[in-house]
Amino acid sequence: MRRASCTLVRFDRAGQGGVNSGRAVLLYGPPGNGKTSIAERVSAIYGDIIYVPQAIEVDGQIIKVFDPALHKPVQTNSQEDESNSIRKESLDRRYVACKRPVVITGGELTLEMLDLRYDPVAKYYEAPLHIKALGGTFLQGNAATLAADGEGWRMRTAKGPLEARDAVLALGPWADVLTRALGYDLPLAVKRGYHMHYRAAGEARLNHPVLDVERGYFMGPVRRGIRLTTGAEFALRDAIRTPVQLGRAEPIARDLFPLAERLDTEPWMGARPCTPDMLPVIGPAPLHRNLWFAFGHAHHGLTLGAVSGRLVAEMLTGETPFVDPAPYSATRFGA
Ligand SMILES: Cc1cc2nc3c(=O)[nH]c(=O)nc-3n(C[C@H](O)[C@H](O)[C@H](O)COP(=O)(O)OP(=O)(O)OC[C@H]3O[C@@H](n4cnc5c(N)ncnc54)[C@H](O)[C@@H]3O)c2cc1C
Repeated sequence: MRRASCTLVRFDRAGQGGVNSGRAVLLYGPPGNGKTSIAERVSAIYGDIIYVPQAIEVDGQIIKVFDPALHKPVQTNSQEDESNSIRKESLDRRYVACKRPVVITGGELTLEMLDLRYDPVAKYYEAPLHIKALGGTFLQGNAATLAADGEGWRMRTAKGPLEARDAVLALGPWADVLTRALGYDLPLAVKRGYHMHYRAAGEARLNHPVLDVERGYFMGPVRRGIRLTTGAEFALRDAIRTPVQLGRAEPIARDLFPLAERLDTEPWMGARPCTPDMLPVIGPAPLHRNLWFAFGHAHHGLTLGAVSGRLVAEMLTGETPFVDPAPYSATRFGA
């Protein structure tokens, strides 16, 4: 590291840890402070090869990951590969052996850059930059097939069996289906919610979200139109949909803003996974080795996803957690 960067920037502790991990590192800072030079030199220090999938498939949609503009393919039988190879067997041709990539966005990093981009001409999605930087792979399978396998876990995926030492059970409102099957009696219920999209009538524009506290609805401008949402509904997760609140809120909202026709054939419905104390269940599964729980985020799963991910990762890798995980333990329910 010193050879690579001493003339440029001093890394802090977090920076060194990130670089040593050999995983993707995000460098940010004001322009002109040497980020690009550091990134290129760090990558050169490793000098190794990663295997980037050509594309991955999610729900029948193709997401292109290999990007010739970012990934530099190398000959798999090259000297470089021989010295570093983790696979001596012949290469699966769905993967491309590449030099460890350096992805430079330039300018401001926006949220859109972290999202999938659909190419309407080619009819596939382009993976976001951080996936390309990781050479990431996403496998989909039925979590109900998860089973202990020696010290680790095994489940079936569309691409065959997947084995891992650790498994994180993060199934939101469906978590109890698997926890029950594994012998846990954890209390999990749902608060359901609905929304519908509308076109704005005429030239009307809604420039910011509006919350009508007195009459209990919320609407805001989104890409699809105006989204009208309702309050929480107490019902069983799989009970028949009853968007009664939406039907009542719609004429009231129309008093305030000229909503035109509905844009969805059915109201969207989601379920917030709630525990009795409204805290999530995060941490080791008490009855199983190398199994971790991360569910029950109730109203705040979108907000808390990143910190819950960090907490689980720190516990799983034996690091000191950044917050005391005790309040989230499954053992509080006598599990
Ligand atoms: C109407 C509504 C409004 C909300 N508003 C907010 C808000 O403003 N802010 C906020 O922070 N949070 C909000 N939330 C809460 C947030 O959406 C949840 O807390 C969050 O989605 C939970 O994340 P999760 O990853 O635990 O579960 P989920 O996002 O529900 O993901 C669980 C995943 O598991 C998958 N799955 C289930 N069973 C299986 C199986 N057998 N095999 C494989 N996969 C399976 C599901 O398909 C799903 O993709 C809202 C929720 C609702 C319903």
